Amino acid sequence: MLKSNSQTSRIIGQYSRGQDGPLLIAIGGIHGNEPAGVLGIERILELLCIEPTYNPSFIYNGTFVGLRGNLAALKAKKRYIDTDMNRLFKIDHIAALRRDMSQARSEDRELIELLDTIDDLMCSIQHSRVIFLDIHTTTAHGGIFSIPQDNSESVTLGLNLHAPVIQGMNTGLAGTTMHYFTKQNFGPFTNGVCFEAGQHDDAESVDNAVSAIVNCMRSIGAVAARHAEQKHDDRLLEYSKQLPTLCNLLYTHHIKPQDSFVMNPDFVNFQPVTEGDLLAQDKHGEVRAPMSGFMLMPLYQAQGEDGFFIIESLEGY
Ligand SMILES: [Zn+2]
Repeated sequence: MLKSNSQTSRIIGQYSRGQDGPLLIAIGGIHGNEPAGVLGIERILELLCIEPTYNPSFIYNGTFVGLRGNLAALKAKKRYIDTDMNRLFKIDHIAALRRDMSQARSEDRELIELLDTIDDLMCSIQHSRVIFLDIHTTTAHGGIFSIPQDNSESVTLGLNLHAPVIQGMNTGLAGTTMHYFTKQNFGPFTNGVCFEAGQHDDAESVDNAVSAIVNCMRSIGAVAARHAEQKHDDRLLEYSKQLPTLCNLLYTHHIKPQDSFVMNPDFVNFQPVTEGDLLAQDKHGEVRAPMSGFMLMPLYQAQGEDGFFIIESLEGY
């Protein structure tokens, strides 16, 4: 069964073969200038649709649903319209919006619509557990990675995507999907991971998103390992072979628009930096690395609340 919807609908598509199993909810385009997740989900739905033709023994356990995060921003091809949607997933904020939408911004409306859609899906689709896969891309080049929730199952899921896992990002941020789609809010059989599929405009980011979704399906038992093509493993392993496997967040450089923050050019994800290296400029002057480590998500776009992150590789991985 494949339900495909028009280009601007919240639900990209839904796939099931009537078998019991997990509900995998993949979300693309929480940031509107990051279409790779949406395109990857669209391609996965096409592949699932034709798979039984080529592979009659193909079994899919449970249900896969793909959702668009921020419809208005996707249409505008901007990170956001009024405010960053991936900082709004806060229990108090959502409760306030549910009481009164009169002051709601564009992203507040998107947030409530998305959550209502997810509530409807969870009520209407039988599932043994629910897994949220939130797919993003970065302004910088240089590697893919996943951001797990603060629990070991989520870290394992991230490692099973076969991309570097960055722990501790949830302490450097607030109100992200990974803070909200949790066991505390959705019950004990809930798990989630965020996947960064590459650079915003790189066509390979779509392929990376497809491979991450396939690896996720295999990790949660939605598809048997023999039905998940080796090329998806190979692709992400090759992409990240020079990168550390498990990392920890050391530092977040928060910025405000009035800081006039400008990242120095040509930094890439996972680039080694040494304490004191010149990284950026702002209204106070030079911004230097406060410690040694690896650069992550240097900001090369006008919109954003974080200039860069510094991470360390955890030994033993
Ligand atoms: Zn994003």
